[in-house]
Amino acid sequence: MALRRTVDGVRRYAELRGHLGPPAEPLKRPGPPCRWCALRDDCVEGQEYLSQADDHR
Ligand code: SF4
Repeated sequence: MALRRTVDGVRRYAELRGHLGPPAEPLKRPGPPCRWCALRDDCVEGQEYLSQADDHR
């Protein structure tokens, strides 16, 4: 599992940097890490996720 995540992360980094073709557009993927993300106060997607997650507690 950890190896797969590492490989996925390296692949995504290479895509974003344009090492595998034209640089990929960065995407926001809201999820549990939004709770401790330093950008969450300025991130609409993260705020929406956290609001919905709090509604289901
Ligand atoms: S708060 Fe925004 S930038 Fe931070 S992890 Fe969530 S979606 Fe990504």
